[in-house]
Amino acid sequence: MVDWSIQVGIRGKLLVIVNSLRQWWALPVDYGWNVAYARSQRALDVTRVFIGIWCWLYGAAAAIAMTIPALADGRLGRWPLWVSVVTTVPLGLAWVIGGWPSWRLSIAFVLYADILLAAVLLTIDEPSMVLPMAALFTVIASYVVGFHGPKLFTAHHVFALFTTIALYVSAVTEGPEQRLQTNLYLVMLILVMFSAPLICHTFLMLLRRDATGAFYDPLTGMQNRRGFDAAIGNLDFRSDTHTSATAVVIDLDNFKAVNDRYGHEHGDFVIRMTAVRILEVFPTPAITVRLGGEEFAIVCVDDLDSVIERSELLRIRLCDITDRSPLTASLGIAEAVVEARDIVADINDLLSCADNAMYQAKRLGGDRVTQYVDDSLESRPVDERQ
Ligand code: GH3
Ligand code: MG
Ligand code: MG
Repeated sequence: MVDWSIQVGIRGKLLVIVNSLRQWWALPVDYGWNVAYARSQRALDVTRVFIGIWCWLYGAAAAIAMTIPALADGRLGRWPLWVSVVTTVPLGLAWVIGGWPSWRLSIAFVLYADILLAAVLLTIDEPSMVLPMAALFTVIASYVVGFHGPKLFTAHHVFALFTTIALYVSAVTEGPEQRLQTNLYLVMLILVMFSAPLICHTFLMLLRRDATGAFYDPLTGMQNRRGFDAAIGNLDFRSDTHTSATAVVIDLDNFKAVNDRYGHEHGDFVIRMTAVRILEVFPTPAITVRLGGEEFAIVCVDDLDSVIERSELLRIRLCDITDRSPLTASLGIAEAVVEARDIVADINDLLSCADNAMYQAKRLGGDRVTQYVDDSLESRPVDERQ
């Protein structure tokens, strides 16, 4: 007799697994966000140095392999080992002294590492001796886990698995007497290649999904203060150590009256509309944030005149008389030179100057753009500039 309750139980569990896999596959991955987050935690520079050292160690391993006759005299000669020795030196240097790679360069790095490692392993004439070295794929996997998502993770592991199986098959065919040992290597390799990376990858992805949510404001979809702090590391310094940055702080005038007169829900709508208008006038690469309530800020590296011009445009856009509850806004602007190494502190100082200018705009009656003037520590309306 068939026990249907067991069958339904198994089907239910299978469905849960399939759904979890689907969700995992569809998890959004933002390489830029991962890099910005690591940078904001000051973890990026040290990671770069580690990756550079790993490149050199990989080159050193290839150089040592070339001195071992059994490993160096492969079917296709020593070229993959030579390529490893020659390319890992400048590559390691680029990691140690260069900047963090773009998304494309990062993928190219993973492809380079995977293909070169497979070439080295498959061209050596001693497959049973070489098979355990396929564990080196796990080093590449740790980079993929750190910065990329499920698709590259899967592609890397499928490639590593096929290379390992090809090595296993040639090891078994060329040395059938060592079959038991080769089987043992294969099982151990699968454990090493899949256990830790898979668990780390899955939990990191889940944590990232929640962390990403914690960086955005649910009402407007704009970055909140935490997301903003993480994103300012993305300011384009054009390979300089410092750059001139401009901050704009925006606060709606008499917003409480909108809530009181039209209700909180309409107040929320006004806040959302304000965010949309800000993003229209200051699209990416400008970094935008909802600081709280109906207060927003923008940071960009564009020249001051262009920011003043766009702030005026934004002030006019925000005060749309066709709105159900037309409102005005006060905008404060400040400009300063910011250092790459003190970026978070420098931008915070810049924001408090822009905030001062915004309060000056309020004191002058609102509905205006005011610039923070550094030398006199006073703010003045931008239309009073000479
Ligand atoms: P001022 O011209 O001085 O800026 O006056 P104001 O009325 O705009 O005052 P203030 O900026 O200090 O007050 C902001 C108000 O925004 C207070 C709070 O009731 C309201 N508020 C804060 N967060 C939200 C929100 O998420 N939704 C709505 N609807 N209202 C909010
Ligand atoms: Mg206000
Ligand atoms: Mg306010």
